Amino acid sequence: MIQHPYQNLKDGRWLMGNLHAHTTASDGRRPHQEVLDDYAGRGYGFLMVSDHDILTDDKVYSKLESHGMVLISGNEITAHGPHMLHVGAESRVEPFSGRQEVIDEVQKTGGFVIFNHPNWVSNFNHCPQELLDQSSGYIGLEIYNGVISRLDGSPYATNRWDMLLSKGRKLWGFANDDSHEAEGDVGLGWNMVYVQDETPKGIVDALLNGCFYASSGVEISDITVDDNRIIVQTENASRIVAIRDTGRRVATADTHTIEIEAPVDARYVRFECWGAGEAFAWTQPFFISE
Ligand SMILES: [Zn+2]
Ligand SMILES: [Zn+2]
Repeated sequence: MIQHPYQNLKDGRWLMGNLHAHTTASDGRRPHQEVLDDYAGRGYGFLMVSDHDILTDDKVYSKLESHGMVLISGNEITAHGPHMLHVGAESRVEPFSGRQEVIDEVQKTGGFVIFNHPNWVSNFNHCPQELLDQSSGYIGLEIYNGVISRLDGSPYATNRWDMLLSKGRKLWGFANDDSHEAEGDVGLGWNMVYVQDETPKGIVDALLNGCFYASSGVEISDITVDDNRIIVQTENASRIVAIRDTGRRVATADTHTIEIEAPVDARYVRFECWGAGEAFAWTQPFFISE
C-alpha cells in the first residue's frame, strides 16, 4: 500500500510560495513593503516574512499592500540554537535553548515547526543530525535554502532528509529563499502547494498535510498513483530520479516523466526532478507498507 500526500489534486490549483524572507525588522536589507512588492511581482501566491525572533502577523500585514498574495504569520526562531521556522504562528514563542521545548510550545499555541538550513556553516553542521533524530513534533526541514549558495556549507540537505526518512520518520521537504539582499536572494527556492482554500489557514493546512512539492525551477504538472504504480509528470525536467531508503536510486528516466512500480520492500520512494542549470523539483515521500 502507498500512503502519500497527493490524493486530492482536484478543484484547486498550485500556488507558489516562500516561507523564509527577512526584512529591515531584523537583518534583511529591505522594508516589508519592498519585499512584498518583489515577491508579488514575480507571481508568488503566498509569502511568509520570517524575521529573527520577531513575529510578523496580521497586525503588521494589515498595514501593507499584499497585491493579492496570501500572507502567512511567522518567525524564524534563531537565538540559542539551530534555526527553525515557526509557520502559521499565532503568537511569538521564546527561542528556548532546548529546541524540543520550542516545538512543544508551538504545538500548544498553533502553527508548525521545520528545521532550517541544516548544512549551513563550514563544517556543514548548523543543525546536528542527532538533534533532528532526537526531536519530535516538527514536520520537516529545509532540503534547499537559497541563501546558503553564497555562504559556507551547502544549500541542499536531502542527505539529512533521507537519513531521517530511512529511520521511518515522516517529514516533509521544503525549499525556501531565506532572502536578505535586494539582488540575487529572491526566486531561488519555493514551495508549490495544492490548495482549494486560498487563505492562510488553507495554505498552512496543505503544508502540514504535505500537499506540496519543493522547487528551484522544475514544474511538476501531475502526480498519480494507481495501485503500486507512481507516475510523476513535469513540464521541464530532463532527468527524474526515484530514490528510496538509505538514498538508493530505484530508477532514472532521462525525460520529463517517470513511471515506476514502487518496490514493495522499500520504506519510501521520493522523486527528484532535475532540470537545466540548477533547477530541481523534489516531491514529498510516498510511504510504502504491506
Ligand atoms: Zn537561519
Ligand atoms: Zn533566515
